Amino acid sequence: MYDFAYHKPTSVADAVKLLSTVPDARPISGGQTLLPALKHRLDKPSALVDLSGIAELQGIRREGSAIVIGAMTKHRDVQHDAQIVSGIPALAKMAGLVGDTQVRNRGTMGGSLANNDPAADYPSAALALGATFITDRRRIEADDYFLGMFTTALEPGELLTAISFPVPEKAGYAKMRNPASRYVMTGVFVAKGPKGVRVVVNGAGPGVFRQKEMEAALSSSWSPDAVANVKQPADGLNSDIHGSAEYRAHLVTVMAKRAVADAA
Ligand SMILES: Cc1cc2nc3c(=O)[nH]c(=O)nc-3n(C[C@H](O)[C@H](O)[C@H](O)COP(=O)(O)OP(=O)(O)OC[C@H]3O[C@@H](n4cnc5c(N)ncnc54)[C@H](O)[C@@H]3O)c2cc1C
Repeated sequence: MYDFAYHKPTSVADAVKLLSTVPDARPISGGQTLLPALKHRLDKPSALVDLSGIAELQGIRREGSAIVIGAMTKHRDVQHDAQIVSGIPALAKMAGLVGDTQVRNRGTMGGSLANNDPAADYPSAALALGATFITDRRRIEADDYFLGMFTTALEPGELLTAISFPVPEKAGYAKMRNPASRYVMTGVFVAKGPKGVRVVVNGAGPGVFRQKEMEAALSSSWSPDAVANVKQPADGLNSDIHGSAEYRAHLVTVMAKRAVADAA
């Protein structure tokens, strides 16, 4: 690990000021992704801005027909919060499938969505549910947020403060996980909500994507059988030591069927 300065602000305004004035400063939330990168000397920020002392980034609240979740909310709290469990049970269940107990006790929703790892769980939920990303300076719709592998619409120094999830009519999630890390090999999140039927695939490609043929099939008939014969092309999907693109393509249909059954 290289040397770095450490700051622990207590307000979003102070954190943003540090991020905009200290060159190469970086926010740190749960540290589950950033700290291993620092330990392996894959990253060299001049300073870390620890977000854990900022009360504005905490909390889960109902706002009309949406549940707004603070960026510093830990996976464990998403899993167990009563409002999320009753309003968006698929999101709570998904949080319980992230990594292991230690990762869920430290890692945060904001950190995961800012990182946008193609094998992460939350991006599929956010895109399928039509979430809105709230930052220190603007609101970004999920359709405009995910730009590709480890890339989002966040600008340098922009802080994700909360994510607003419309409560869906129904939603479900299924993933085939890497047995060692529990990261997603291929997952599918399905939702029927204010933005219609959405089917989002994670883990299989370089970033999350909507499976529009399955969305059309489920719009006509919401049942696992409706997606059973929809085949995902392997073109452009990931191929690595864990599985080929063809295997991942096959998993898209299998996980979609399970996710629809989960939503029922
Ligand atoms: C062993 C292991 C297994 C895992 N398995 C899974 C899994 O199955 N599924 C899954 O989805 N994830 C998994 N993860 C990742 C885990 O969910 C992390 O918690 C997550 O990727 C990052 O969240 P964090 O809070 O730790 O972020 P950090 O590591 O602190 O930060 C990650 C990145 O986001 C930036 N950042 C953090 N907060 C903000 C913010 N509010 N605004 C702007 N930028 C910000 C940081 O600067 C950094 O670049 C695993 C991790 C480990 C170590």
